[in-house]
Amino acid sequence: MIPTKGYAAQTKETPLAPWNFNRREVGPYDVQFDIDFCGVCHSDLHQIRDEWGGSIFPMVPGHEIVGRVVAVGNQVKKFRKGDLAATGCLVDSCRTCENCKRGLEQYCLVGGSQTYNGYEQDRKTPTYGGYSKTIVVHEDFVLRVPASLDLAATAPLLCAGITTYSPLRHWKVGKGHKLAVLGLGGLGHMGVKFGVAFGAEVTVLSTSPSKEADAKKLGAHKFVVTKDPAQFKAARGSFDFILDTVSAEHDYNQYLKLLKTDGVHICVGAPPTPSAVSAFALMGGRKSIAGSGIGGLPETQEMLDFCAAHNIVSDIEMIDIKNINSAYERMLKGDVRYRFVIDMATL
Ligand code: NAP
Ligand code: ZN
Ligand code: ZN
Repeated sequence: MIPTKGYAAQTKETPLAPWNFNRREVGPYDVQFDIDFCGVCHSDLHQIRDEWGGSIFPMVPGHEIVGRVVAVGNQVKKFRKGDLAATGCLVDSCRTCENCKRGLEQYCLVGGSQTYNGYEQDRKTPTYGGYSKTIVVHEDFVLRVPASLDLAATAPLLCAGITTYSPLRHWKVGKGHKLAVLGLGGLGHMGVKFGVAFGAEVTVLSTSPSKEADAKKLGAHKFVVTKDPAQFKAARGSFDFILDTVSAEHDYNQYLKLLKTDGVHICVGAPPTPSAVSAFALMGGRKSIAGSGIGGLPETQEMLDFCAAHNIVSDIEMIDIKNINSAYERMLKGDVRYRFVIDMATL
């Protein structure tokens, strides 16, 4: 066993605090890398507070993990000691089901292994995430990090990046499309960057008027304050796609009004409570509501390489790990510009 340090929640009521635990020994196909930076995703907060149900404690969150390889197993082909490495939301999957074979490991039909708050494929060894010093992962679930990108600002690509890249690619969002990004937080700001890079006209739909200047700096063409009834009404029937990144309960029926005929409302935000959608909100204009979860390993690598080619990273605010609990409080208020990243040297 490899002893390591991390920050864990012991129950859904307790704040994160230092915790010692073990990583497995480096197996023949494993890569061990020391973690330099880990992004803070709103999913971390949902899960440590058990808002989605079924949380496993103690929980070491973190699935936007980047660092440097310190050891590799004797069968490892892709990595050598000293290489940059990254892991996102998955550390394993069955590898044999139809989806795994298509590189859609995030939709593994048997059940993939989440990076934390999950179990290894033996279904009994808990997984612990990136708010920690070091991690051991099968090489197939370790991504290559392009050296040209700022490492700390690359961390959020592993979840916020791929979660927005994947649906925009799937629905072929690009030139000639009007894309609305709903919610300008960690996912939202990456959605804006990718939407712009793919050639769409991008509008940010936000509850925070103070984010308008930032939205424009990120490349957005338009900004709508959703709390302003006049602005909301003026945006009716405008968009081919809405990329919905909102973390809290909201009324989908209202936003569906903003779609054009045949428009698609894509849910990536994961509010804990289900929401009622009226059939009428879909029928008038043949609209769809859809969802998308993170991304598979091949597409995650494709996204990282795309980011290197287009010089795209996340806009980050670096924090010390001891400030993680107050960072969560700010995140809850929508006060993130636009992703917290933990400097793991502070652990
Ligand atoms: P975040 O940084 O906290 O951003 C969420 C944004 O949503 C806020 O900044 C705010 O933007 C907006 N918002 C918050 N409450 C709202 C409300 N009541 N009504 C309308 N807008 C509201 O969170 P994140 O890390 O981007 O994650 C967003 C959601 O995606 C979370 O639920 C997370 O669990 C989920 N997620 C899903 C996947 C997936 O695979 N599908 C992957 C990662 C994360 P404004 O200030 O602009 O309004
Ligand atoms: Zn995430
Ligand atoms: Zn599978």
